[in-house]
Amino acid sequence: MTAAIHPRRVGDIEVTVLSDGYLDAASLAVVRNLPPNPEDLIRRQGGRVPPRISVNTFLVKSAGRIALIDTGSGDSMGPTLGQLPRALAALGVAPDAIDTILLTHMHPDHSNGLSDAAGRRLFPNAEVVLHENEIPHWFDDAAMARAPERQRIRYFGQARQQIAPYRDRVREFRAGEVFPGVTAIPIPGHTPGHTAFLIASGNESLLVWGDTVHIPELQVPRPETTMMFDTDPDAAAASRVRVFDMAATENLPVAGMHLHFPGFAHMTKSAGGFALVPET
Ligand SMILES: [Zn+2]
Repeated sequence: MTAAIHPRRVGDIEVTVLSDGYLDAASLAVVRNLPPNPEDLIRRQGGRVPPRISVNTFLVKSAGRIALIDTGSGDSMGPTLGQLPRALAALGVAPDAIDTILLTHMHPDHSNGLSDAAGRRLFPNAEVVLHENEIPHWFDDAAMARAPERQRIRYFGQARQQIAPYRDRVREFRAGEVFPGVTAIPIPGHTPGHTAFLIASGNESLLVWGDTVHIPELQVPRPETTMMFDTDPDAAAASRVRVFDMAATENLPVAGMHLHFPGFAHMTKSAGGFALVPET
């Protein structure tokens, strides 16, 4: 695979989407609260069945500093993913030049690129910045015991492993500016600390909305559609509608970890509901 990178300016801030690759879903088995005939809806919206899900990360250069929003999946999710290091190399950015990792949340496809199997930091000079509710959730033994068996190692175990080499360089936030020109907006539900990042400079802005959607062709027209791995599906659906509304009302361009590469779009709202228009 060739490295997929795509630059976009937000005022004085340079934002570049770096693809970590894609994931071919085997089916819709992990989707909950599906509308009738979901395959037809996906096809009508121009998507493929079963879905191919992009995994994007975003590099942000602002005020002489470099942040990376999410780290992709490392080598944990097969050969179609884990492409971030190649994308960084193609862009000419060394991992040790990145001073800040902003995490939308800790799931394998977002945070397994933090550390290698030997427990070494893949971003040796970076501080990891995330919502204050995220790490406590993944270190909560009771929550781990309640989780489906498959998620215990894959989610809880790997989150613990990935963050360990950064424990003395974690900065937790509640909300507000977390990097020059970047404001954290908590959107809990998908995980307890799930966060969107609003990038703003001059009169331009861009909302990097994390996992507000996983399958845009389903969850944009039907925001009540949730995923099996949402920590709190009702809260996730409520956050989704709130983010859609904000993006549509404020005419705010959006970027998503699972919007089809390059992942930039505009949200519209009409009597028929929400629609997502990819940015050209
Ligand atoms: Zn994800």
